[in-house]
Amino acid sequence: MRDFGRQVLDICGERVTAVFISIGSNMGDKTGYCLSALDRMDRIPGCTVKARSSLYRTEPVGVEGQDWYVNGVAELEVELTARVLLDRLLAIEKEMGRERRKKWDSRTLDLDILLFGSQAIHEKDLIVPHPLMHERRFVLAPLTELAPDLIHPVLGKTITELLEKVPDDGQQVMPLKGL
Ligand code: AMP
Repeated sequence: MRDFGRQVLDICGERVTAVFISIGSNMGDKTGYCLSALDRMDRIPGCTVKARSSLYRTEPVGVEGQDWYVNGVAELEVELTARVLLDRLLAIEKEMGRERRKKWDSRTLDLDILLFGSQAIHEKDLIVPHPLMHERRFVLAPLTELAPDLIHPVLGKTITELLEKVPDDGQQVMPLKGL
């Protein structure tokens, strides 16, 4: 089983934290936005994209009349604080044309910090582990590709166990062929 306690790696004296990011888009060139986000995250100083899941085509949940999403998860190694990383991710969302109108609105790009090493952060505008990640099949399905045995630092269950527990609400989450 993957040991979450070792998710903060000490490489050559530098603190490197293993981080998982959820990526989603449901407007315009959705796959293109997701792939471009990976490229842009890799170019953040102090941040390297180590791996990514397949991309999935997923049905919107909790809202009527929205287009389907493309979703995936990336594993990063960062030498930044969670706060600085969040600022960089919000800047990428903005560069990709994201407009914040109302919650759950359609978006060109949504980047969420799912896990930041074994840290639990509870600030007004930054909550880690992401408070909804364990309820979302479209997050857990791609995350199990990268880290099936990783233990959620608050819930104490593996990602595979969390995925098995998500109630089946009929949401379709389908890997996109070749992506
Ligand atoms: P949304 O784009 O609807 O997911 O909301 C983004 C806002 O949620 C950001 O402006 C953050 O301040 C806040 N937020 C709180 N926790 C997180 C997190 N773990 N990852 C990303 N955004 C977060």
